[in-house]
Amino acid sequence: MNVSAIENSLSKKITKSVGRAIGDFDLINHGDRILVALSGGKDSWSLLYALLMLQGRAPIQYEISAVTVDLGTPEFNHEVISQRLAREGVTHHVIGGSVKHLVDEKLTRGTNPCSLCSRFRRGFIYTFARLHGCNKIALGHHRDDFVETLMLNLFFNGSIKGMSPKLLADDMVNTVIRPLVYVSESLTTHLARKLEVPLIDCGCHHERMARSRRQWVKGLLTAIEKDVPDVKSNILAGMQRIHYRHLLGDKKRQAIDMTASS
Ligand code: SF4
Repeated sequence: MNVSAIENSLSKKITKSVGRAIGDFDLINHGDRILVALSGGKDSWSLLYALLMLQGRAPIQYEISAVTVDLGTPEFNHEVISQRLAREGVTHHVIGGSVKHLVDEKLTRGTNPCSLCSRFRRGFIYTFARLHGCNKIALGHHRDDFVETLMLNLFFNGSIKGMSPKLLADDMVNTVIRPLVYVSESLTTHLARKLEVPLIDCGCHHERMARSRRQWVKGLLTAIEKDVPDVKSNILAGMQRIHYRHLLGDKKRQAIDMTASS
């Protein structure tokens, strides 16, 4: 593995954060067969390398392979991903092949194309994991994704809903893990650059439109960071310190709280 290409401090930083997440949320256990969803972006590459680095020194054993869903656009060159992984000795599977076409076909007014696309891609990956005996699917969402998703749901959907670092998937079979929960986006950007991994674009016309809301939230957080440098870490921490009694909550919970406090 090309870990020697990573600056020591950088590799220490990312493995420390990922190791902490694994411990805090019980993400990886002995004997796990982990399928890393590798889109070819900086985040999924960082996730894969972080897990590979930790694998070498973990007291438990687990298997790692990677899967890429072919979006079906001419620009999406998954061959370069396969070549890089062959050099690293990591098993790589390419599945799907018509996701962009499916999105174009099923997209309705008001639907976010990337959310729809991500649902299709997850469907392909869940099925593949089930058929190949992989019990965990690792996704490359990092701390900033966790925070932005919470803000997006709050601002545009009126709900306090984010992502979970460990979740039984919709198919009730696979477990989805997100070991980069404590890793900042700037760290994945640095790591991908250091590793000189091939970064692949979707090559899809939906890209600009679909990401505009997320870009806006990103901009908002960057502006707040000027006055509150820890705002993202604080929001992430807030996702674990929820004071239900001081929210509107649902009526059932309120009734329980009233009984408990009387
Ligand atoms: S831009 Fe969005 S819809 Fe298009 S391929 Fe990428 S994730 Fe899918």
